[in-house]
Amino acid sequence: MDNKEFRKNAHQVVDWIADYMENIESFPVKSQVLPGEIYEKFDDKPPDTSQPFAKLMDEVDDKIMPGISHWQHPNFHAFFPANNSYPSILGEMITAGIGAQCMIWETSPAAAELEEKTLHWLKQMMSLPMDWSGVIQDTASTSTLAALLVAREKKTNFSINQDGFQSNKLRIYCSSQTHSSIDKAVKIAGFGSSNLVKIAVDDTFAMSAAALKAAIEQDLKDGLIPCAVVTTLGTTSTMAMDPLQAINDLCAQYGVWNHVDAAYAGNGFILPEDQHYIEDLSRADSYVFNPHKWLFVNFDCSVFFVKDKSLLIRTFEILPEYLKTKNRGEVSDYRDWGIPLGRRFRALKLWMVISTYGVEGLKKTIKGHNNFAVWLENQIENEPDFEMMSPRVMNLVVFRYAPADHEDLNQLNEQLLQTINKGGKAYLTHTKINGQYVIRLVTGQTYLTEKHVTAIWNIIKSETKKL
Ligand code: PLP
Repeated sequence: MDNKEFRKNAHQVVDWIADYMENIESFPVKSQVLPGEIYEKFDDKPPDTSQPFAKLMDEVDDKIMPGISHWQHPNFHAFFPANNSYPSILGEMITAGIGAQCMIWETSPAAAELEEKTLHWLKQMMSLPMDWSGVIQDTASTSTLAALLVAREKKTNFSINQDGFQSNKLRIYCSSQTHSSIDKAVKIAGFGSSNLVKIAVDDTFAMSAAALKAAIEQDLKDGLIPCAVVTTLGTTSTMAMDPLQAINDLCAQYGVWNHVDAAYAGNGFILPEDQHYIEDLSRADSYVFNPHKWLFVNFDCSVFFVKDKSLLIRTFEILPEYLKTKNRGEVSDYRDWGIPLGRRFRALKLWMVISTYGVEGLKKTIKGHNNFAVWLENQIENEPDFEMMSPRVMNLVVFRYAPADHEDLNQLNEQLLQTINKGGKAYLTHTKINGQYVIRLVTGQTYLTEKHVTAIWNIIKSETKKL
């Protein structure tokens, strides 16, 4: 493909994307294919000769699209969203076009400095501590792993980086509702899963500070070393908010790192009325949230902030001769701020989104999403056969269908969820709380409107009639 062909094909691709977004509601939200179906559609051997671009686009339509679950469909209410937006897609296209590998300042100063600037903007937008430093990572999983590695090194005076684990006494604490990425980080960072202490939650599914205190004190009595707490603001199951201030108090008292995981909810803190959740953030040590979840920035874009960047850099820095540069120390060489050496220019799409929406536009969209969830909560509460299963926080509604005469509500709700998802008009997911199968519904899609919210509620009610 030469430049002339690229120009022609690229216009076609842009039209394809615009058509896709325009017609997205004609696709079943959740892919209906069976395992192996897509694999079998492609030749077993790679093509020896160049294939015409038009043929490849036909294959995208015929072979690939049936195997896509449409995360940008307005009635995608599953998991947490990974939403995009038109400005973000354009930013991602420019990043791909430039194709820079932004490992150090010198390999593209604009990438490093736009990253610094957009993170400076986010701190203002979300009322984060202005003296903290930030870096863009791929995912919250990576950010949390980085946080736990820094906590580990700080606690051991950087001796594990140097000598490896000499004993296995470091303890990590999180609530029983914490995301599985914390379990994974604890395994990878070498603490060992048996050193992850899952703390009980209260009746809002938030970590009990009293139980955390008891666990830390027990560990100290047993000769173990409390190292870090992961505080979740917005748990995946129910959007519960752990008590940040009480956890900060305990971390200060016992010299423990506090990493705050607000992967999803962190975006919602753009609204002043929800910033009370992070009022005490400056006393924590690190913080992550994902603009790729609910700030209309394409996957991937996770922002990771630390109070003391020197600890982060000291944990990750390696300086081979071929990466030595003249301006080291004067500029942000982000390769030293996390695990991978190579880095994408992610700040471009973030900048494009913030600039196109404006802070007011972002606030308005997020506020609208929260209002949709309030509306759904009201419908559920006013419908005798349904019940809310946890307090609504922001734009997550957790509920179940609970007709009085039915004995196995878990089985009934599982069946309801499957029927809705098979119908193709919406995609919802479930969780279990206190052994009860419940349905989660997130109203966080970029282009969600009142019409779609009414539609999903009607779908839910009409599918119950068929059970
Ligand atoms: N933390 C929380 C609270 C989450 O809900 C999620 C994902 O939904 C994660 C962490 C992991 O996010 P990522 O996929 O960016 O690693």
